Amino acid sequence: MTTSRVAVVTGGTRGIGKAISVALKAAGYRVAANYCGNDEAAQEFTKETGVPTYKFDVADYAACKKGVAAITHDLGPVDILVNNAGITRDGTMHKMDCDQWNAVINTNLGSCFNMCRTVIDGMRDRAFGRIVNVGSINGQMGQYGQVNYAAAKSGIHGFTKALAQEGAGKHITVNAIAPGYVDTDMVRSVPPPVLEKIIARIPVGRLGRAEDIARGVLFLVADDADFITGATLSINGGQHMY
Ligand code: NDP
Repeated sequence: MTTSRVAVVTGGTRGIGKAISVALKAAGYRVAANYCGNDEAAQEFTKETGVPTYKFDVADYAACKKGVAAITHDLGPVDILVNNAGITRDGTMHKMDCDQWNAVINTNLGSCFNMCRTVIDGMRDRAFGRIVNVGSINGQMGQYGQVNYAAAKSGIHGFTKALAQEGAGKHITVNAIAPGYVDTDMVRSVPPPVLEKIIARIPVGRLGRAEDIARGVLFLVADDADFITGATLSINGGQHMY
């Protein structure tokens, strides 16, 4: 493996993103972790891991350009992009307002455009790139109260397949990971009785660990994973198979 490759992980300071940042660093990549609002968590993360953080909103195209420029200045051109940042703003359709819809679409799906558009020219010029987009089991199955989130995550899976076709001739692979329920702050906000019912439907009998998802990312971004593109890797403890 080439250890000089530069990897950017959006939402890389907490939860699944943190585990991805840590795993990439341990494997020898030069890692930049992005975040948006939680400075305290970001500072703690850098203290613990030594990975530098870059604060910008992935829903904002201009901010992404500025953020990636700073990363490129500090670490070098981006070879690996992990579009991991995501949020939920749940509510049934008849109670959902436009802000809930727009925030989730722009943060989860718009961010993939904003970040990929920013790094794609450099990847094409250097004829190498690895992009991993974090989707969700709920983008594959749909979920009550998550029209916005399921639409955004389902969109990620289509986005991935289209960009994979465009990148193939330039040695840029584009894949998605669809995590099942993983024990992070996002899932801890689910009411305990609902969570118990969810765990009962997971054949391996537990929530995922952030490290379970990071393992998949490491696999997909390797230099010699160049024949794997346009794929969705489901990591969900057997909860959804198709
Ligand atoms: P967390 O809520 O634990 O962490 C989210 C991270 O994303 C934080 O670092 C946060 O930064 C960052 N972030 C949020 N909004 C923005 C933004 N606008 N710009 C930049 N960074 C942002 O999430 P998880 O680790 O649980 O989820 C990670 C990804 O995995 C998401 O895409 C999620 O949808 C997906 N996923 C998660 C599942 C789960 O069970 N946890 C299941 C399936 C998919 P800050 O600290 O500043 O808020």
